[in-house]
Amino acid sequence: MTSARQAADPAFDLVIAGGRVIDPESGLDAVRDIGIRGERIAAIGAPGLTGRDRIDATGLVVSPGFIDIHRHAVGDNSYRYAARDGVTSAFELEIGAPDVDAWYRMMGPARLINFGVSAGHIGARMAVLGDRGFLLPTGPGRGPATAPQIAEILAMIDKGLSDGGIGIGMGLPYTPGATDEEIEAVLRLAAKHRVFVDAHVSGEASVRKLTAFAATVGVGVNIAHINSTAGANVGRWLDEVRALRAAGHDVTTEVYPYTAGASLIQSALYDNWKTWPDERFGTLQWAATGERLTRETFEKYRAVGGSVISHSNTEAALRLGIADPLPVFASDGGRDLDDNPTHPRASGTFARVLGRYVREEKLIPLADALRRMTLEPARRLESRVPEMKDRGRLRVGAFADITVFDPETVIDKSTYTDAAQFSDGIRFVIVNGTPIVRDADFNTRGRLQGQRILIGTPMPGRPIRAPRAVK
Ligand SMILES: [Zn+2]
Repeated sequence: MTSARQAADPAFDLVIAGGRVIDPESGLDAVRDIGIRGERIAAIGAPGLTGRDRIDATGLVVSPGFIDIHRHAVGDNSYRYAARDGVTSAFELEIGAPDVDAWYRMMGPARLINFGVSAGHIGARMAVLGDRGFLLPTGPGRGPATAPQIAEILAMIDKGLSDGGIGIGMGLPYTPGATDEEIEAVLRLAAKHRVFVDAHVSGEASVRKLTAFAATVGVGVNIAHINSTAGANVGRWLDEVRALRAAGHDVTTEVYPYTAGASLIQSALYDNWKTWPDERFGTLQWAATGERLTRETFEKYRAVGGSVISHSNTEAALRLGIADPLPVFASDGGRDLDDNPTHPRASGTFARVLGRYVREEKLIPLADALRRMTLEPARRLESRVPEMKDRGRLRVGAFADITVFDPETVIDKSTYTDAAQFSDGIRFVIVNGTPIVRDADFNTRGRLQGQRILIGTPMPGRPIRAPRAVK
């Protein structure tokens, strides 16, 4: 450190020295130094680079920063959990925002990590139909829309895309009143803007209909969390996605490494709860207290609203989704009103894959896991957002979004009863050239670069937004 500072004119602002550098795009897997100047990677070379600042990565893996394309929790506190799980960019694509421009204004110019949002069908529908639910419809937003209302919904999404929204978000089980005509109109709008649709589908028939129509109009589709939506049929669904891709259609999907899902108890997912057998309530866990539900407590909490964890999948089905090379890893992480994670996936998804499924169970190779956390999510976004071609990679000229972790100790610590736990073994996280995590703790010594500061930590994360339409 001292000798580096004394060097008269160090070549780089920051050097990540002597780590095992893995770049899924080039296939590089070797001990290298990475030299960073400003926000970008300026050199990747043999050990010996010098810089004003130095991170010793000996014995550690140096990877592109993880890109989470499915995260609902977007606040400062929630982003701290993402950062400590190795995430350098997080996107809210499935639900998205009803007003993309307002969302980016709310988020401001700088956060801990990079962030972006899609134009949301659900939110547009809620606004037009007068639904006052939080995030998801609980009233008229679940029901049918008239032709003039559909036109209004489409106009909102159209504006969101012109304002730089990253694709269109859809959640079909949350909007059961949306007809095929409405859904097809949304897909035609996606075709007009040449964007993909990020969709939570409601079942096998729904995914077939959606992907078939998307193929007809030439629109890409990302199927949200295939692990939870397909459940026991995940193998068959993945084979269908593979077949569509082989036929030239732009279909992708994602998986999170947990057998339980989560949603809001007041949403349309649970509208038919009165017909359930008693034992089904016991598969649900109230996130705020960790208690398993009964018919009585379900009714009580549904009236209040909040996050409910649903123990609905098997480890065997989950492992199929993780072992398959197709899906990317994405957290689907949510938050409570204090911006704390409500399901362990919001804080532990990436470390859990690396610790449990790569190291302990050897279900997938490390390089494959990293490809599905970095390069593939970047590729999903880059036709719409050109700057993503410079993220998810370790190469000269790319943004210096970098995660350095210990492959021997990396592991998730968050649980279903205590989701607010940082992952272990994520040692350094660099966003746009600035370390936000240092020696497995928040960096309070980073370069400030004039950005807004939160509790002494630099805020180098920036909005990631599609180019705005020229009017
Ligand atoms: Zn989600």
